[in-house]
Amino acid sequence: MQTEENVSRGLPATDSDLYAGTLDCVQCGLCLTACPTYRLTGRETSSPRGRVHLLRGVAEGHISLSDVVADEMHLCLGCRACETACPSGVQYGALLEQGRAAVAEAGLRNRLAQRVEGVALRQVLARRRRLKFLVAFLAGVQRLGLDRLFAPLLPQALARGSRMLPRIAGRKERERLPTFTPGKAPRRGRVAFLEGCVMPELFGRVNRASVRVLAANGFDVWVPDEQVCCGALHAHAGDLDSARELARQNKSAFEPGDHEPFDAWISNSAGCGAALREMDHWLPEGSGGLAEKARDVTEFLDEVGWREELSSFSARVCYDDPCHLIHAQGIAKAPRRLLEMIPELQIVQHANADHCCGAAGTYNLMQPAMAQAVLEKKMDDLEAADPEWIASGNPGCLMQLQAGVSSRGLKAKVVHPVELLDRSLSGSDWEMDA
Ligand code: SF4
Ligand code: SF4
Repeated sequence: MQTEENVSRGLPATDSDLYAGTLDCVQCGLCLTACPTYRLTGRETSSPRGRVHLLRGVAEGHISLSDVVADEMHLCLGCRACETACPSGVQYGALLEQGRAAVAEAGLRNRLAQRVEGVALRQVLARRRRLKFLVAFLAGVQRLGLDRLFAPLLPQALARGSRMLPRIAGRKERERLPTFTPGKAPRRGRVAFLEGCVMPELFGRVNRASVRVLAANGFDVWVPDEQVCCGALHAHAGDLDSARELARQNKSAFEPGDHEPFDAWISNSAGCGAALREMDHWLPEGSGGLAEKARDVTEFLDEVGWREELSSFSARVCYDDPCHLIHAQGIAKAPRRLLEMIPELQIVQHANADHCCGAAGTYNLMQPAMAQAVLEKKMDDLEAADPEWIASGNPGCLMQLQAGVSSRGLKAKVVHPVELLDRSLSGSDWEMDA
């Protein structure tokens, strides 16, 4: 029988909301074929229904919180395609975060993996200066060709991480955004912009393109200096305390205070955007109205209406949905509508654009075999469509898709949708600068 006592015995560190959340599942199985790990393994325990069943069993005390449960919690990509497929509204993402927190608390994760991930997330990603220092070091390693030289000697996860790392741009390209960029007249409003943790370091060109298109469309862009990492990767790893701490720091950084209030809180990374929207669930005290202002940059521009004239760009583009944009935020049409406005740009449909690419935060380092298997399916579909460009709005997806393109020897360039809009806005010949 379900009692508060056995809930707390099975899932010691988590909220009993987890148990309540598992009860929403009516075991219909409509999520099974949406799930990449079920499609590849055919195992019920590697499906959303199977994982919810495991968590419910643990909460009820008739399944022990064991290695089997831990493995399934971590084999899940967290793509949340199951949420889109589920007619019962199972909040799978929240269940997964709590399930992983319970697994971590029970000491069931590989200790080395947990320690490395913990250091990377808490001591590097969450600390801007340390991340900057690390990226500067890696840039030097790349410039000297040491990454290629020492690749055969690296442990598998590090070698994979090194292969996936994009070419790091020069120091100037990695500078933070200006605190304030005025919107082009006539002014339409003001937005706050989340730079993200890896975005300025590895995809500074995407951040700058985002600010340019927002300003060109009449919006002042405010980028408070005190902002920090959004905490999404921490939450996905089951480190809910760090995720909450980062969310609180951002809540304070984005308090307008003496500044003029803003209309929307913009991000250009799907994973960050989903985390911003979920701040009210993370923080018992709530986000103070911030979460409801969170918008993906493409969603916002589509909502307010693109104002500036775009020049033609004759190219074949496949748009691939980031899971945390389509499944966690329900945004699929906005980026496509914006790209369709570019004269002569041809959006080529590829099969299964809404399927995961296998990036999933740190997943492709922790679960390389499954990440690669998922990526291969994605690359089969993209290769069949033969695009010149592949657009996707999340840094992990950009790196994963680029790794797929490189390993297959394809010529397609992988970019964020705002880069194509920015290129078309400027009307100049344009080369990716990283
Ligand atoms: S989040 Fe993705 S991988 Fe995990 S159970 Fe749901 S569909 Fe499957
Ligand atoms: S679709 Fe929803 S209700 Fe049906 S089995 Fe999957 S999680 Fe449960």
